[in-house]
Amino acid sequence: MSSAEYSPGRDLYDAPHLARNSANFAALSPLGFLSRTAAIYPDKTAIIHDAARLTYAQFYQRCRKFADALRRRGIGRSDTVAVLAPNVPALLEAHYGVPMAGAVLNALNYRLDARSIAFILDHSQAKLLIADREFAPIVAEALAELRTPIPLVEIDDGIGGSSLGGTEYEAFLAEGDPAAAWSGPQDEWAPITLNYTSGTTGNPKGVVYHHRGAFLNAIGNAITFGLDQRSAYLWTLPMFHCNGWTYTWAVTAMAGTHVCLRRVDSSAIFAAIAEHRVTHLCGAPIVLNMLVHAPDAVKRHFDHVVEVATGGAAPPSAVIEAMERMGFRVTHLYGLTESYGPSTVCAWQDEWSGLALPERAALMARQGVNYLTLDHQRVVEPQTMADAPADGSTLGELVLRSNTLMKGYLKNPASTEEAFAGGWFHTGDLAVCHPDGYVEIKDRSKDIIISGGENISSLEVEDALYRHPQIMEAAVVARPDPVWGESPCAFITLKPETAPVTADEIIAWCRANLAHYKVPRTIVFGPLPKTSTGKIQKFELRERAKELSA
Ligand code: ADP
Repeated sequence: MSSAEYSPGRDLYDAPHLARNSANFAALSPLGFLSRTAAIYPDKTAIIHDAARLTYAQFYQRCRKFADALRRRGIGRSDTVAVLAPNVPALLEAHYGVPMAGAVLNALNYRLDARSIAFILDHSQAKLLIADREFAPIVAEALAELRTPIPLVEIDDGIGGSSLGGTEYEAFLAEGDPAAAWSGPQDEWAPITLNYTSGTTGNPKGVVYHHRGAFLNAIGNAITFGLDQRSAYLWTLPMFHCNGWTYTWAVTAMAGTHVCLRRVDSSAIFAAIAEHRVTHLCGAPIVLNMLVHAPDAVKRHFDHVVEVATGGAAPPSAVIEAMERMGFRVTHLYGLTESYGPSTVCAWQDEWSGLALPERAALMARQGVNYLTLDHQRVVEPQTMADAPADGSTLGELVLRSNTLMKGYLKNPASTEEAFAGGWFHTGDLAVCHPDGYVEIKDRSKDIIISGGENISSLEVEDALYRHPQIMEAAVVARPDPVWGESPCAFITLKPETAPVTADEIIAWCRANLAHYKVPRTIVFGPLPKTSTGKIQKFELRERAKELSA
């Protein structure tokens, strides 16, 4: 008999020998995806970037060098490494190399101005900046503003751009040993990345991700989007945005091929689909709209179905319809930076296949049900936290509870506490729950228009505008109104080379398609301001609408 005697306790399953041990419990981390795939498919193409190809063996080797190069520079546990780059291989490698050294990756939004970049580098106490030479001017300006200077590594993949005297990226990798040992985190709760929100209402907040959440959300993506080793994933979504919604790890997990893309334009996207037989891509609805309105000369024929996941804003049903006509299959996702990107999906129901396209597109424009890896979502009355009835009309706040939520905001306990008040994460999005359990976002709390005491969903008015044959883009915000409190004000971009349309004609169109109190009272034509992730900057439009009333 061994020394480990069984002695019956009060709880049948709460026995010491049934406790976790190092054989049956390991920290969840997406880092193991790369070593596993490299071991199974060493020669498979992992990354395509212009004419360059990297196999999974090479990808893994480069990431090990990356981690060791950081270690040799004294960078490790709890240090932040910032990367400012478009969707090039170096940024993908950073998603493994940085956490393999125990450090935390902060992928920066390259459309930020120098002051915001300097703010973030200071705030995150970054120990190293790796920047693409394309952004040399803004990097020089940001570095000059820093309170504590930091070393620079420069990515130069032949596109040009001037050097600021930093170490070239390949030379930096060469500082590391590909055979150096590395290990995953001891604790799955360890930080893996830091992602700043856009900070439309003040300084940006640094959202801290953990290894466990990154592992789970990546698995959720792989399953939801149907990735496998035949998948070719085109990098149209910025990797700096929620780590590419965690597809940086999901595609590797499934041994798919990452197709990098320095610049997101319709001709490069169609060319990649045709040449690399891209099977999956993600993007904000604005990217879909760009494909829909691409000139005919740029559009390429392809004979396979391309899966497109869209989110970040609700896709107008007209955009879903037009994408389907071109051979794309659209999946609608919803999420936030705090939820590692996607947290809900408009899960497909077979009976929808028999519906006419406009009806189907309207159902698909809903944000849907919780991701496989998201524990709970509810629509609640924010004061009492009581569930809103599933009647498709009672507005409440969408709240989430999940292993795939951030640890919290870096150096910001007050905002963290507020976000998690009452044991739920508050999205700040207003939604209804339909009788079939599908959730539909009506607005961000701050975007809802309250006119004569009635709530008007800006998204609903926008959807009606997008159905107008001559409108390419539309955004609706509240304009201060002396009688109604607020009234809807529509900012509109017309399709190129379309016949002129008057504001009265647009208003007449809305009257025919919307309840009359929802019809915009003001129409403004012109280009729309966008955020770095392709979202229309409503806060700026609100300012413009306010000026109209001043
Ligand atoms: P930022 O706050 O910087 O715009 P996030 O990615 O965190 O960046 O934005 C999350 C917000 O985007 C959500 O709170 C929601 O308002 C909006 N959003 C995301 N996906 C959708 C969607 N599918 N439909 C409508 N709104 C969405």
